[in-house]
Amino acid sequence: MTVLTEGLVVSHLGKGIAVETGDQVILCQTLRKLDTVVVGDRVLLSLINAEQGRIEQILPRHSVLQRPSRGEQIRPVAANIHTIFVVFATEPSCDFLLIDQYLAITENCNIQAALVFNKIDLPIPEAVEQELVHYQSLNYPLYRVSVRAQQGMTELQQVLTNQTSLFAGQSGVGKSSLTNAILPDKSLRINSVSATTRHGRHTTTAATLYHLPEGGDLIDSPGVAIFGLAGLTEAQLAWGFREFQPFIGQCRFNDCRHVNDKDCAIRHAVENGQITPQRYQRFLKLREKMPVSHY
Ligand code: GDP
Ligand code: ZN
Repeated sequence: MTVLTEGLVVSHLGKGIAVETGDQVILCQTLRKLDTVVVGDRVLLSLINAEQGRIEQILPRHSVLQRPSRGEQIRPVAANIHTIFVVFATEPSCDFLLIDQYLAITENCNIQAALVFNKIDLPIPEAVEQELVHYQSLNYPLYRVSVRAQQGMTELQQVLTNQTSLFAGQSGVGKSSLTNAILPDKSLRINSVSATTRHGRHTTTAATLYHLPEGGDLIDSPGVAIFGLAGLTEAQLAWGFREFQPFIGQCRFNDCRHVNDKDCAIRHAVENGQITPQRYQRFLKLREKMPVSHY
């Protein structure tokens, strides 16, 4: 009987998958019949020689982040993430629609969400401040930081220990600056993964899992920073606005789409001030962006 070793998928390389076992990184191939293996997966592998192995089994995932691929397909991009930190900043702009999109996804896939408001060295408009207060009232943790002015970084670094995290957010908000501040020797680590798995060239767009110096893991994935609505249905989108949840199922029609429908509990809640018009409007906008309606 083959002896199976447990490992952690740390990167996809040109010619295989880099899997860490103990303090070694091994280049692996996968069995065709297996589902897509992604960064963050815990796997069982058999060793072919000291440097190469074959992934035989993917261990159960507690979460999987997906993104749409060609057509109606969705495919996994990372597994076992505990928290997605949604990074945003007044420069280039606070894109609350994108933030709500990320929050709707995490709410539906067993991933925690936290907000990282970067560039607090820049002036903060009152309207932005109000949105921040509102997110906090919805129990989303908010970290106010400035990588440039080195403010709020200790608290953020603290919460990154003992869990697997991912930074998401539009381009220009400071994700790479944050990652570099937290992982100063990032490029060294990339080279060491490529070197130990000699046959696998690392590409800059590959999602990679890094161990943080103080504990905890960070999945850095330039390519998956924006993952659309990740295959959510309309019903899941509504659920993804967590303050809507007490009202879902209270509408007159059980296939209510919460738009112009008669006696919609969500719309009543907006009128009564239990849901802000801003969040409701953004829900409507995201709903319109959905490729087709599959309720
Ligand atoms: P990414 O596209 O999200 O990875 O963003 P980058 O890390 O490349 O940063 C985009 C720009 O924002 C760069 O010019 C950074 O120097 C700048 N930047 C990053 N953090 C801060 C900050 O705390 N304050 C200010 N004012 N600028 C920052
Ligand atoms: Zn409704």
